[in-house]
Amino acid sequence: MYNTVFFVLLVILVADYVLERYLSFINSQRRSTELPPELKDVYDAEQYRKQQEYKKANERFSLISSSFSFLVIMAMLFFGGFSIVDGWARYITSQPVLSVLVFFGILAFGSDLLGTPFSLYDTFVIEERFGFNKTTLKTFFLDKLKGWLLGALIGGGLLAVIVWFYHITGPLFWLYAWILATVFAVFMSMFYSSLIVPLFNRQTPLEQGELREAISSFSASAGFRLNNIYVIDGSKRSTKANAYFSGLGPKKRIVLYDTLIKDLTTHGIVAVLAHEIGHYKKKHTLTGLITGIIQTGITLFILSLFVDNPQLSAALGSPQPEFHLGLIAFGILYSPISLLAGLLLNYVSRRNEYAADRYVKEHYKADELVIALKKLSTNNLSNLTPHPAYVFFHYSHPTLLQRIRALGRDEGRGTRDEGQGTRDEGLVFK
Ligand SMILES: [Zn+2]
Repeated sequence: MYNTVFFVLLVILVADYVLERYLSFINSQRRSTELPPELKDVYDAEQYRKQQEYKKANERFSLISSSFSFLVIMAMLFFGGFSIVDGWARYITSQPVLSVLVFFGILAFGSDLLGTPFSLYDTFVIEERFGFNKTTLKTFFLDKLKGWLLGALIGGGLLAVIVWFYHITGPLFWLYAWILATVFAVFMSMFYSSLIVPLFNRQTPLEQGELREAISSFSASAGFRLNNIYVIDGSKRSTKANAYFSGLGPKKRIVLYDTLIKDLTTHGIVAVLAHEIGHYKKKHTLTGLITGIIQTGITLFILSLFVDNPQLSAALGSPQPEFHLGLIAFGILYSPISLLAGLLLNYVSRRNEYAADRYVKEHYKADELVIALKKLSTNNLSNLTPHPAYVFFHYSHPTLLQRIRALGRDEGRGTRDEGQGTRDEGLVFK
């Protein structure tokens, strides 16, 4: 099993771990005591101290949890763990499609179990200590249960059909799998909010009152129907606030967290709503969906060229080529390419965020958006000074400073993208 592919897998996994730790390290070293003038009013001294501690706690946590995952995958690789699980799956059933389902079921369930103590610690120790956590143990475990059921139903269903395609169409299976994935992606982008979200959260129409009036008059002027705006009970799990736009055509909707409504003024909420309407006007969901479909097609095609290669299965400890072992080895071999694709997608996402912010500036009020963004940063204890390299790799949103500077720039000079963004501490709507 220690063939060339085995060593390539090893190099990729080690390089990925080292890169990730290096980025986290330089990011953690970047603590400036002197914030840029635009950000001086985000934290007072006490809040800033708390933010720095929150950042440190998260960094320590991510070091431990990512090192643990790294050790587990190394052990799986060195001791032929995947081939051992394959043996169990075959022992349970000899039906080829079912045994693949059992194989991935054991892996998914096992990795979820190993991850559970970490997510318990994250939610009930770290988030709790800094006053963010609102989740009860009951909600936590119910979420897990629902996640497993959904994963088994949807993930298992899709996987079964793809393995079946592989058995009946051979090398052309990628094309059928692509059609299936496309239909599924379009279906999900239309019905995710009405089918999946209600399993976890309650979504209600906006209540009557001053806020509804303000939102109503803005959305009417922007040509967005009020009955596409929902409030979700994010406060069931966390005090952190957010908002997002999802769906296509008649299924489009803007979702505001109840925590966002609690934290912001009416003007601030309208500014956030205007940002989301900006995403809708500029068709960001549609272009994201199309990009995802193209990317899936390319990945599946490349997969079809490699999956039968006996070297892949051999590297995981199996004497004969197996589709599901090939799939796992391919997933690791492909990860440098998906890393590059991820960089590109983050870059596009950051440009979309600037565009949505610009929509607020042109159709509502830039200064209200700035106040809202700052308030959310304060409440979420966001890191205001991440390392540019870390931002380049991981942020899907520009940093607060970049967004404020882009909003402040003169019209006509255009917005020069500074190449950075944020996904991290929950800030700043999608
Ligand atoms: Zn956005």
